[in-house]
Amino acid sequence: MSQALTSLLLIYTGGTIGMKQDPAKGALVPFDFSQIQEEVPEIGKFAVRTDSYTFDPLIDSSDVEPSLWQALAELIRDRYDRYDGFVILHGTDTMAYSASALSFMLDGLTKPVIFTGSQLPVGVPRTDGKENLISAIEIAAAKDADGHARVPEVCICFGSLLIRGNRSTKVNAEMFNAFQSPNLPPLAEAGINIKYNRDLIRKPADWDAPLTVYPALDTRVSILKVHPGITRQTVSDILHGPNTRAVIIETYGAGNAPTKDWFLDCIRQANRMGKVLVNVTQCLRGTVDMNLYATGKALQEAGVINGYDSTTESALAKLFHLLGNCPDNDEVKMRMECNLKGEISK
Ligand code: ASP
Repeated sequence: MSQALTSLLLIYTGGTIGMKQDPAKGALVPFDFSQIQEEVPEIGKFAVRTDSYTFDPLIDSSDVEPSLWQALAELIRDRYDRYDGFVILHGTDTMAYSASALSFMLDGLTKPVIFTGSQLPVGVPRTDGKENLISAIEIAAAKDADGHARVPEVCICFGSLLIRGNRSTKVNAEMFNAFQSPNLPPLAEAGINIKYNRDLIRKPADWDAPLTVYPALDTRVSILKVHPGITRQTVSDILHGPNTRAVIIETYGAGNAPTKDWFLDCIRQANRMGKVLVNVTQCLRGTVDMNLYATGKALQEAGVINGYDSTTESALAKLFHLLGNCPDNDEVKMRMECNLKGEISK
């Protein structure tokens, strides 16, 4: 009996990869998916059947809203049985947020969901879009000897790297290696061959369990980035806002923040109000350890929970997801400190 051809759904949301210069507007504007296919005829050379789905309107990813993540999650759920994997073409600016969000919204994933995009439009001679898209397709189609997907995770494939979506961050606005996974080595590197870091790739507990999609998101989250000169008013406005259920506090180094009485009083008051307060470091690499310095300890005692080595993008997406699914903030706090999808080293 002949084996069915591997099939992928290419989902096009917008971004630079599918843009071209509009002389009238003097800016990049999106073009349709058939033009991407024309520019990348290599797609047809894989022993893979590809279908495409185009979002309308196509957007610059600076305009991404959680509603796009819900639409993506529902699209994947509705077509899950028809495809072996999904490749999402997305702008780079918020790709790390979208990949993080999907990693929490799709539970029991047994198939690859690979985000990609580019720094230069696919029609430009030096584009990175072709290589990124071709690598993403090859990875999304890759299977192990047992027939299971090699990378059943939400990832970003960009430059020479395949990285876990909820570990990714955009670090470069102009070079082709735009994304990094600062606290976890890449899941694969694309050179002459694609070399997989197999020990790091997460596998589902049960390959036969159905995919569960959690579309609910609660966006009542703010981010407080501490900095020298921050005022009591700013801290209070962010921490005590009536429409905020959770605040990510971006701290210095290993999780340190000012120890001035007014600052800690603001934190204690937010904690008494029942807010979820999460400590994430401003540093690109490394983890929060609130037991290292007195300043970190003071935060812990004031009710701040540990975000470990989470990126801010992942902490935000995780909070949206947990708040959307648990009415009880104490349960959210407890689950925030758990490693749900490989997003923290714990
Ligand atoms: N502004 C674009 C976007 O995020 C940038 C890109 O795709 O690289 O959609």
